[in-house]
Amino acid sequence: MSRLPKPRVIPIHAESPGIGHKGAKYDCHKCPAYCCSYPLIEINKRDIARLAKHFGLTYKQAETRFTKYDKGEKSRALRHQKDRHFNSICMFLNTRTRQCTIYDARPGVCRDYPDVPHCGYWEFLKFERVQQDDPKFIATT
Ligand code: SF4
Ligand code: SF4
Repeated sequence: MSRLPKPRVIPIHAESPGIGHKGAKYDCHKCPAYCCSYPLIEINKRDIARLAKHFGLTYKQAETRFTKYDKGEKSRALRHQKDRHFNSICMFLNTRTRQCTIYDARPGVCRDYPDVPHCGYWEFLKFERVQQDDPKFIATT
């Protein structure tokens, strides 16, 4: 089976299917949030300021608590937590409901992803569920 291309930017876990993208062909409600398991969920100063305001923290507190600097990629990213489906996943995902816990304060990359009507992860998941004849099957990439 073909593997998914690694996206450069990270994802969103929408509250409703394909939110923000007219004619979206994916359903985040039925997905375990592959996009939120991407190792490097890049975050910028504006994103950190938004998180700080959301949690009533200073910029520095939010930066320290929620982000880490990746020396290899030379960029700052959201911290992860352990996850039963993937090695790890964004610290802000509710690992039981698979929903984003900071939806209104999520970073820009999460708002933008995917910026096309199709989500590659969703296509992969749909294919695997048909193969397994299990509408709830969770395939790992
Ligand atoms: S991987 Fe795609 S379908 Fe799944 S939560 Fe992310 S955007 Fe939605
Ligand atoms: S902030 Fe929310 S949408 Fe963005 S990766 Fe984390 S859980 Fe997913």
